[in-house]
Amino acid sequence: MDFTESPRVQSLRTLVREFMQREVYPLEPALAREGFAALLPRLSRVRELARGTGLWAAFVPERYGGAGLPLTEYAHLSEELGRSPVGHYLFNCQAPDAGNMEILIQHGTEEQQERWLRPLVRGEIRSCFTMTEPEHAGSNPVWLGTTARRDGGEWVIHGHKWFASGADGAAFAICMAVTDPDAGDAHQRASMIIVPTDTPGFERIGNLSVMGSRGGGWASHGEVSYQGARVPLANLLGAEGMGFVIAQERLGPGRIHHCMRWIGICERAFDLMCRHAVVRELAPGKPLGTRQMVQQWIAESRAEIHAARLMVLHAAWRIEREGSYAAREEISLIKLTAARTLQRVLDRAIQALGGLGMTDDTPLAFWWAHERGARIYDGADEVHIDAVARRILRGYGMKKAQG
Ligand SMILES: Cc1cc2nc3c(=O)[nH]c(=O)nc-3n(C[C@H](O)[C@H](O)[C@H](O)COP(=O)(O)OP(=O)(O)OC[C@H]3O[C@@H](n4cnc5c(N)ncnc54)[C@H](O)[C@@H]3O)c2cc1C
Repeated sequence: MDFTESPRVQSLRTLVREFMQREVYPLEPALAREGFAALLPRLSRVRELARGTGLWAAFVPERYGGAGLPLTEYAHLSEELGRSPVGHYLFNCQAPDAGNMEILIQHGTEEQQERWLRPLVRGEIRSCFTMTEPEHAGSNPVWLGTTARRDGGEWVIHGHKWFASGADGAAFAICMAVTDPDAGDAHQRASMIIVPTDTPGFERIGNLSVMGSRGGGWASHGEVSYQGARVPLANLLGAEGMGFVIAQERLGPGRIHHCMRWIGICERAFDLMCRHAVVRELAPGKPLGTRQMVQQWIAESRAEIHAARLMVLHAAWRIEREGSYAAREEISLIKLTAARTLQRVLDRAIQALGGLGMTDDTPLAFWWAHERGARIYDGADEVHIDAVARRILRGYGMKKAQG
């Protein structure tokens, strides 16, 4: 694999980096002070400018209105956008909409794409993804309490979901529900169904308080309830019973997006740590950076970020050539490696900045609170460790049932 950045990647990196410095970083102090929802009018203006860069929804094929970057090129863009908490949102590449766009592109019918995908790509609406349930372990995705049963020409959905990111203000939810509880293969019991949020029986209970904040709009995690919500049978995404398979497919490229976003956060944290190390003096003429412990944080962070980035780019390269299934081990490994690298680098940067690192004068404190979830969502570390180790041990003769 050749890790050289193509001229196109170099130029899009430069374009986005300059845009971020000019338009996005200056928004951060107000974002920390006032919160996402209060800042929406300003964010909307910057979104219009971002649209003009030609990199709007860059991972979406051009025929659907995106910039059509292949995964290995979009990965670099995701890193640049990750350097600010709102980078992805401003370029319409934010989770969970990005993943929902990918599902609709791959599995949506023409009618579903016209009604939901195109407005999503244009940035006119937002969406959410409702799979996790308070009553069931999200780490076991085939164990769900939510059901959808056919009644005439409709699905009738009952269930309780939480951690539906961005549910506040979303126009529709993708609901993961059991449609065939008796299917012999547990992986074929559930399906994905599109539910407009104005459907009677769909109730947004509210935003969860997460790490001290309920957020608002896109920057929130919702609790929702399906109480006999009825939608047409035509709202099924893909084939019946394919919910688990679609969810797995969605997570392949999605993990590249997230991991590169985390590497962008690491780079920004690293930059803040190094800048501080040379200007903050412990005594006259003795900057922090002269201390070996601080030098160790810097060198170790550099090595870990570099290693994580190469792993993620390699996984993206493999997904592009062989698909997510073939690259499943790499995908698990990058998910846990990048999330842990993120946590270590953020911790060192905050430590190096001392009290300043705890204030909202930099995005470090925001990320410390909001990115702790990186080791939990899209599969907790332990789930990936478990999956990788079992696969390796099966190669040594351990039987499936024993694992
Ligand atoms: C910020 C954030 C955003 C999210 N957004 C969404 C969203 O938009 N839509 C959605 O549907 N869900 C979302 N989620 C939910 C997320 O997918 C789940 O939290 C995750 O899958 C874990 O499920 P759980 O919380 O039920 O934890 P559980 O499954 O109850 O697991 C608890 C803990 O058990 C441990 N564990 C699990 N399996 C193993 C194992 N095999 N061996 C050892 N230990 C193990 C892990 O440490 C894990 O953290 C989000 C979560 C967060 C934090």
